[in-house]
Amino acid sequence: MTTVYNFNAGPSPIPAPVLEKAKEEMFNFEQSNMAVMEMSHRSPLYEKIHFHAMDQLREIFHIPEDFDILFLQGGASLQFSMVPLNFLTEGKSASYVLTGSWSEKAQKEAAALGNVHTLASSKDQDYKWIPHVDYTELPENSAYVHITSNNTIYGTQWPDFPNNVNIPVIADMSSDILSREIPWEKLDMVYAGAQKNAGMSGVTIVIMRKSLLESANSKVPPSLSYKQHASKDSLYNTPPTAAIYITGLVADWINEQGGVEEMERLAKEKAKLVYDIIDDSNGFYTGHAAVSSRSLMNITFRLQTEELEKAFLTEAKEAGFVGLNGHRSVGGCRVSNYNAVPIEHVEVLRDFMISFMKRNK
Ligand code: PMP
Repeated sequence: MTTVYNFNAGPSPIPAPVLEKAKEEMFNFEQSNMAVMEMSHRSPLYEKIHFHAMDQLREIFHIPEDFDILFLQGGASLQFSMVPLNFLTEGKSASYVLTGSWSEKAQKEAAALGNVHTLASSKDQDYKWIPHVDYTELPENSAYVHITSNNTIYGTQWPDFPNNVNIPVIADMSSDILSREIPWEKLDMVYAGAQKNAGMSGVTIVIMRKSLLESANSKVPPSLSYKQHASKDSLYNTPPTAAIYITGLVADWINEQGGVEEMERLAKEKAKLVYDIIDDSNGFYTGHAAVSSRSLMNITFRLQTEELEKAFLTEAKEAGFVGLNGHRSVGGCRVSNYNAVPIEHVEVLRDFMISFMKRNK
């Protein structure tokens, strides 16, 4: 079997030991002669998997006890609607910081349900950086402020989280969850689809301050209500059992590697390998993001001509690289450097980028 260097933006690599373990036990879990996806979600055996995944996430991500962890469905995209459904009540407005297409989508779904406000945006600068945000400009009736901590398409990332904001701060962390330590005192809710850093598609992880949960609108249909899901420990309806099982295994793997601290350290080391090539290439490769807003998870860059870009991507494909195309809406190239991407793969990519540059200068 030839090696594949998988740099997909999501779904993306799952740690090899997790896939091995799943292969070993998923189809006969703990001598039950049942596959994980064959078990009743009301059985003690499944409950063990469910609560293990929650406990392990709490442990590695240092989630304080005054936050609830929910396992929902519908992807991060459903959160774009669930957030305003639950918190954007009559007479209030929701503030959004626009840092890319995903934050625009989040705002658009909220706009279908109530009043929205753009607190800051870098759209007119091609989303090259995280804009400066003046929180004193928050409208008085703001229900919450929504940010996108990592912008998967443009390759930018918030270097820090908003400070001293006196309304709830909600972060879409779809593409950097479990890759950086969180100052929980600065955030009230975090959500992410699992398919990049936390497992496979199908489960959406929502982490919410209990006091925020208590303030949620009770008039929401039960299946879309955070309160409802929280009160049933995310077993209100059938949860995505196999995906939750994989998230538990990924959390175990992160724990064995040294926790989220180690993921953060590794992400920096791996990203540096690629950014150094870009910076030392004399303009052969040009990064999209401003240096101060660079993402450790998605590294976006262009070559001098579209022709050269095409040649780069074609040769990369022949050499076994997968997923280096930029998002279809922006073009160019993108290296997704999630937790499960081995550093050795990034080293092979670095060598390929150097060799391609030498041959095409
Ligand atoms: N937010 C961000 C930052 C994303 O990168 C994505 C998906 N790539 C989404 C939201 C949408 O996630 P989903 O496909 O799980 O709905």
